[in-house]
Amino acid sequence: MRKIWDFHGGVHPPENKHQSLARPIKSAGIAPELVLPLNQHIGAPAEPIVDVGQRVLKGECIAKPDGIISVPVHAPTSGTVTAIEERSVAHPSGLTTTCIVIETDGEDHWTEHSGIPDYANADRGTLLACIRNAGIAGMGGAGFPTAVKLGVNPKAGRIDFLILNGTECEPYITADHVLMRERAEEIVAGTEILRQLVNPREVLLGIEDNKPDAIEALRRACEGTGMEVVVFPTKYPSGGEKQLIEILTGRQVPSGGLPADVGVVCQNMGTAVAVYQAVAHGEPLISRITTVTGEAVARPGNFDVLLGTPMSFLLEQSGFSAGRDQRLVMGGPMMGFTVPDADVPIIKTTNCILAPTAEELPAPPPAQACIRCGLCAEACPASLLPQQLYWFSRGKEYEKLEAHNLFDCIECGACSYACPSNIPLVQYYRASKAELTQLRRDQAKSEHSKTRFEARQERLQREAEEKEAQRQARKQAAEARAREAAETGSAEQDPIQAAIERAKAKKAAAAGDDSQQPAADMDPAQQAIERAGAARSTDANQSPAEKARANLERLEQRLQKSEAKLAASREAGAEDSIIEALQTGIEKLRPKLEAARAEVAALPAKSEPEPAAEPAAAPPERELDAAQLAIERARQARADSANQTPEEKARANLERLQQRLEKSETKLAASREAGAEDTIIEALEAAIDKLRPKLEAARREVDELNTGQEA
Ligand code: SF4
Ligand code: SF4
Repeated sequence: MRKIWDFHGGVHPPENKHQSLARPIKSAGIAPELVLPLNQHIGAPAEPIVDVGQRVLKGECIAKPDGIISVPVHAPTSGTVTAIEERSVAHPSGLTTTCIVIETDGEDHWTEHSGIPDYANADRGTLLACIRNAGIAGMGGAGFPTAVKLGVNPKAGRIDFLILNGTECEPYITADHVLMRERAEEIVAGTEILRQLVNPREVLLGIEDNKPDAIEALRRACEGTGMEVVVFPTKYPSGGEKQLIEILTGRQVPSGGLPADVGVVCQNMGTAVAVYQAVAHGEPLISRITTVTGEAVARPGNFDVLLGTPMSFLLEQSGFSAGRDQRLVMGGPMMGFTVPDADVPIIKTTNCILAPTAEELPAPPPAQACIRCGLCAEACPASLLPQQLYWFSRGKEYEKLEAHNLFDCIECGACSYACPSNIPLVQYYRASKAELTQLRRDQAKSEHSKTRFEARQERLQREAEEKEAQRQARKQAAEARAREAAETGSAEQDPIQAAIERAKAKKAAAAGDDSQQPAADMDPAQQAIERAGAARSTDANQSPAEKARANLERLEQRLQKSEAKLAASREAGAEDSIIEALQTGIEKLRPKLEAARAEVAALPAKSEPEPAAEPAAAPPERELDAAQLAIERARQARADSANQTPEEKARANLERLQQRLEKSETKLAASREAGAEDTIIEALEAAIDKLRPKLEAARREVDELNTGQEA
């Protein structure tokens, strides 16, 4: 005879189970529209893989898992996806979540599917993948992904007990009860697969003594399997995982620990059936057994219902008639919660819809002050101190809540049930858990940011140290080279010092003899003067014949240059005044060139001795230097003026002076712009200063002459 243990606390609320046990499981049929939330499980929501308007078949995957703690979602029947949108779901907060909406076609057409052949000999990985791909999550309430739970490595070394939870201790709910009663073989077949995966020492099917027909069915199905059906006294909440483990094994799961820590794996009866259907037939989790009960329904019972079916569709089939202050509760009266409206869908964890009348389940009376009676602590199956937790929750003393193991609370509601002051204790705990969870998330986020900041600071410091080390190494190497050079007398020199030396040498060279200055740096006028000076000194040493030939050569060169310049100016589209000036210059050159040619032609042959130079003879026509040209122009002007009237002379003089002033001013401006030497600038300024009074005098003279003529 197996020993049965007891757990601390517990209560005995009215069971109210018989109402829904009178009928066998009934198929709920196909609702016109199914609404499938993407997070029907604990963990990350699944990701949709279908589009609006897409036709889907029964059993087709419509949302894939997003991460390890996640499961896929499948189409419960054939139809068309009409929306992927936010819808209200069954949740205490009444929140909305993303759902895939399918308009059903009534054909219930299956997608191609098949189970694992000879699954009794399949390996562990294949079985776990099959369970995961079938979207199975714990159907007892929490909805933890089954494949993840089965894949956990036990800290205790091995799993001693595989426990199938058939307790169903919550009042009103009979979904597991009828499942055990009507589908015990499938439960046992699924448990065989679980045993294959977990390889436990013992397999125990735990069930309360208030379900005799289910006990009988299970015992029959277990015959010859080595599995044991263990029956124990009814007490709420014996179905809590930790409480059931203690009842069947005497082992206590530590605070914050898992059943695997004490060598136990616990699964729900409905989950075992889902595993069997997935592995043996390749059918994903697309339906479940749900109890519809309460005095507001005429035909309470259990339905095999497609996931996504609206609650209202099920209620309709049960003869629901809404009464005064009608409440609809998802789950039982102890752990369930009121749903926001009757259209929320059935999901993987929906075990009961309770539609009580106002008399049957009246609204809780107003809470009174705590009288410190301690009944809540006596009822608590987790051996907590509900009264203290209540005060800490009200004061938002989160550290104390954690220190008093708030997260060991299974939210069974036994404390609230026992409280004579009607304090909704469990509601305080739920709110505090949500706040603490958010706080932990924020802290984790903040820690993450802090870690990243510190890592960055460390990296920056490391880089700065590396740079400094490199700089020091370079400095030491340079010092070592300098020492070596000093010791060996080597000419090796610091590159910077060498650059300084080069700069000094260049400066010294620039400051040296002016005679070394290249001709290119000289002012153009100065260059012309230099050239003229050089020509004069050359002329002085030449015979008259040599001078005539040199003159001819120069004139030819000048003409060529002038013609080339004229052609280039025309091509470049130069101004007319420039073109005309060049043409005038060429026209003046041509007679000079002819005269020079005639002079050379008249010279005796080269073999004949040349006559001695005649210093008094008139100079041959040749290119003259600037001074000589000026003299020539002056002579010409004198010759011209000899034939002019006084008025003409005065006007010609004024015109010349104006031209000279303009030229000088242009030259001064060009010299300034070219950065010519100060001496040149000063000379030009002095010349202009001298010209201006002359120009004024010439103007006055012309004016006077004009005045005299008018008179
Ligand atoms: S049962 Fe209620 S009244 Fe009694 S100690 Fe607990 S909270 Fe206070
Ligand atoms: S709801 Fe929490 S505190 Fe209250 S009895 Fe249950 S486990 Fe204990």
